[in-house]
Amino acid sequence: MKRAAVIHRNPAALRHNLELARTLAPGRRVWAVIKADAYGHGMHWAAGLLEGVADGLSVSCLEEARALREAGVGAPILVLQGPRSAAEWRFCALHDLQPVLHDEAQLPGLHALREPLPALWIKLDTGMHRLGFAPLKAQLLHAQLHRHPATVNGLHWMTHLACADRPEAPQNAEQLETFAHAVAELPGQRSFANSAAVVSGLARSTRLGEWLRPGIMLYGASPLVGECGPERALRPVMTVTAPLIALKSLEPGASVGYGASWTANRPTRAGVVAMGYADGYPRHAPSGTPVRLRGRECPVIGRVSMDMLEIDLTAVPEARVGDVATLWGEGLPVERIAEAAGTISYELLTRVAGRLRIAES
Ligand code: PLP
Repeated sequence: MKRAAVIHRNPAALRHNLELARTLAPGRRVWAVIKADAYGHGMHWAAGLLEGVADGLSVSCLEEARALREAGVGAPILVLQGPRSAAEWRFCALHDLQPVLHDEAQLPGLHALREPLPALWIKLDTGMHRLGFAPLKAQLLHAQLHRHPATVNGLHWMTHLACADRPEAPQNAEQLETFAHAVAELPGQRSFANSAAVVSGLARSTRLGEWLRPGIMLYGASPLVGECGPERALRPVMTVTAPLIALKSLEPGASVGYGASWTANRPTRAGVVAMGYADGYPRHAPSGTPVRLRGRECPVIGRVSMDMLEIDLTAVPEARVGDVATLWGEGLPVERIAEAAGTISYELLTRVAGRLRIAES
């Protein structure tokens, strides 16, 4: 049995956001990033909607790619955390996956591969210092690999930006310059743009990247620090709702919840919403974090519990048990909850699935 709290998914919003990515960087191809269960929205659901609309789908690991192929998804698939063992490389060739080569430890397995991959993407570390080869190695890798039987269908180049969510950060230009320089003389296509680089216009400003890799913007959240999706014409794909299950009248001096962290300073009507941290609501959301009810905002009061949270109903005196509150989504951008809780939209979206029911809207 599932909880009364519900994740509503809006397929039209997902398609709209993808189209917006295309508009913001015209003429580019799009890897729709659907890793981590499509940022909590359901990988199979997202793949079903995006296959044939995006140019390809991008996942984190071979397990996710396998699940897509087993479900009959035939689209090109980019695997961001590439294979290591010879068996994993063969798996990629067999299942028509485009893996990323990002580390020396992957090379022996790749060298053992005799079957062709649909394409190989080589990742260069231009300043993120996470995955990727030193840019100076690009020439050498190309020389070693471009005649290899596994790469006959193409050898392409990618990198990832560390600070794209702050377009004014000088590191963006530095990384792009390093990338451009490293691959200038090399054949193959290029990809660097996550959502932030698409939304900020960085992707459009250079001819460097034939392929975009947007993730969070597809789900309607703004990738840029301090902004919400609707400010960029993005539409939320996920709306999380939960019912009001109890009402309380608090006298001045009455405290609320574990640790008695919030105390009424006037007579206050409060409501209990059936959504807690075990459902994916951030426990660190402080008093004051907005919840939407009957078109108005009510602040969280007291600590978030495992299965419940409490709100101040002063703005909605007519609230009734059974009313449906919106925790984030349509009318209440997830970024606002994330900011209040000291986290990012990505974390909230990817954590919420599991215990809740899912509905299409
Ligand atoms: N490309 C790579 C290599 C990533 O790791 C990610 C996400 O973490 C993305 C693209 C998509 O990023 P975003 O969701 O910020 O668009």
